[in-house]
Amino acid sequence: MEKYTFIFAGAGLSSLMTVYEMIQSGLFSEQKILLIDANSKKTNDRTWSFWEKEGGEFDSIVIQKYQTAFFKSNRFSRKLDLQPYVYKSIRGVDFYNKIFELLSQQPNVAFIEARISNYSETNEGIAVETNLGTYYGEKLFNSLYNPNPVASQTKYPLVQQHFIGWFIKTKNPIFTPETATFMDFSINQKDTTRFMYVLPTSKTEALLEYTLFSPDLLKKEEYETGIVDYIKNLGITEYEIIEEEHGNIPMTCYPFWKHNTQNVLNIGSAGGWTKASTGYTFKNTTKKSKEVVRFLQNHSDFRKFHKDNKFWFYDLLLIDILFRRNEIGSTIFSSMFRKAKASLIFKFLDEETSLWEDLKVIWQCPKMPFLKAVWQRIF
Ligand SMILES: Cc1cc2nc3c(=O)[nH]c(=O)nc-3n(C[C@H](O)[C@H](O)[C@H](O)COP(=O)(O)OP(=O)(O)OC[C@H]3O[C@@H](n4cnc5c(N)ncnc54)[C@H](O)[C@@H]3O)c2cc1C
Repeated sequence: MEKYTFIFAGAGLSSLMTVYEMIQSGLFSEQKILLIDANSKKTNDRTWSFWEKEGGEFDSIVIQKYQTAFFKSNRFSRKLDLQPYVYKSIRGVDFYNKIFELLSQQPNVAFIEARISNYSETNEGIAVETNLGTYYGEKLFNSLYNPNPVASQTKYPLVQQHFIGWFIKTKNPIFTPETATFMDFSINQKDTTRFMYVLPTSKTEALLEYTLFSPDLLKKEEYETGIVDYIKNLGITEYEIIEEEHGNIPMTCYPFWKHNTQNVLNIGSAGGWTKASTGYTFKNTTKKSKEVVRFLQNHSDFRKFHKDNKFWFYDLLLIDILFRRNEIGSTIFSSMFRKAKASLIFKFLDEETSLWEDLKVIWQCPKMPFLKAVWQRIF
């Protein structure tokens, strides 16, 4: 029976990023690593966007960079100067190809395309059951998201970032390729938090996403009508849809880390690596995967991996508000983006601000809903 040191359940963003960091460190070349995924990861299933300072690790596969971005609401429109950050987009398939190419050069790393049905822990380690048989390992990185623990409790509400995106090509030039539309809340809110997100890649091509931060999903037609209306409002009459993507990202402060055991570390969205207040996961995953490698150099008990921080509490308050009073989401985000510098907001969302800087961002937001949320959490 072959036994691996590390098994990755799933080979999506968090697993590939973590194994990438393990390889970069050069510390794991003697250990057998297995990745298992039901999908061969050969097609483009998503576009990841994130902000970072110039000179990023994945710049070779970045398809577009934005130095400026619009924030719009019914009351104002502001062109944000993102410096020193740059907003970048990466196609999922380019990331998968890059990492799988690296994996193919590592004699100690294997990939199996199989559907995982279960995993269990025994005294000897981990057993991962799949449609192709059972695989054994000492440690498991689990990125298979299980919605049940979140759904079966009420202490940590679940808001979802749900969207459909169309990548379109227009007949006439209309877009400004160097400026993204980060959030456009000027669309009909229908008593929920919804906005358009536009990422142009040329004067005639852009990804347009109709996005909600809300507890309940919509029917497919409703997202699509939202995109069609928006395209019409931009004055576009002739276009074709080149690609479509959709997503439903969990925004919750549920303590996923409580499910970590000595030998199982939940990673990615399954491990709470998705920033609850925004749904962004890519950037956080680049940080967390580096943390995993540092952690493994001195520790072996995954129950010690998690660390609390103040940003978890800030996110908790925002999610509480969005869950209870979803209709005020636009007002909250608009107040935040109305005056504060984009670089400060990005630093805050990256969880790198000092307490003084936190206050500068939080102070922009409407006070009553947050005070009420604090009160409700404490009492
Ligand atoms: C369309 C879309 C766009 C997004 N855009 C952004 C963005 O712009 N910026 C950002 O920061 N975040 C974005 N996200 C959120 C987040 O970055 C992604 O969801 C990210 O892929 C999460 O990483 P993960 O490792 O947790 O999950 P995944 O990348 O989804 O990996 C999980 C893997 O598990 C596999 N799997 C699932 N079940 C099984 C099973 N039973 N057996 C075997 N394999 C299984 C899946 O095939 C998958 O490969 C987006 C998400 C989506 C869906």
